[in-house]
Amino acid sequence: MKRVYVNEEWCLGCHLCEYNCAFAATGERDMAKALKGMEIHPKIQIEGDNRISFAVSCRHCDDPICMKSCIAGAISRRDGVIHVDKDKCVGCFTCILVCPYGAVLPAPDGHAVRKCELCTDNACGEPACVAGCPNGAIVFEER
Ligand code: SF4
Ligand code: SF4
Repeated sequence: MKRVYVNEEWCLGCHLCEYNCAFAATGERDMAKALKGMEIHPKIQIEGDNRISFAVSCRHCDDPICMKSCIAGAISRRDGVIHVDKDKCVGCFTCILVCPYGAVLPAPDGHAVRKCELCTDNACGEPACVAGCPNGAIVFEER
């Protein structure tokens, strides 16, 4: 299956992927109107410093420990993509603790968690972070 992979040597640390991710989730057509002045809550995060930076997002593991560990049965796999059911999530944050990649983040409401679902929940066609990266530092491919 196709997954999002990171070419950290090409990452500029511009954080555009974070904005594209947040924008895709709004369903709006104009990024400035949708995000200007807003605090964003993207499902991909740029880590690093001035020397090296890289994007962190869910790897949709073949053996997902987040799914195994969820105490509420809120995490499931559909066509290889790991999803969180916000209605079932009780906000225990076990998945945040166990994910070896730091790919699960608290949701802004402090309850359900947020994580990359490969843009299956919006109409982007391909992950918005990949589509918007100006430098090919994130790719969506089968390896
Ligand atoms: S959230 Fe973490 S453990 Fe779960 S599938 Fe994604 S990368 Fe793997
Ligand atoms: S925070 Fe939600 S999704 Fe994560 S382990 Fe707890 S109940 Fe499951």
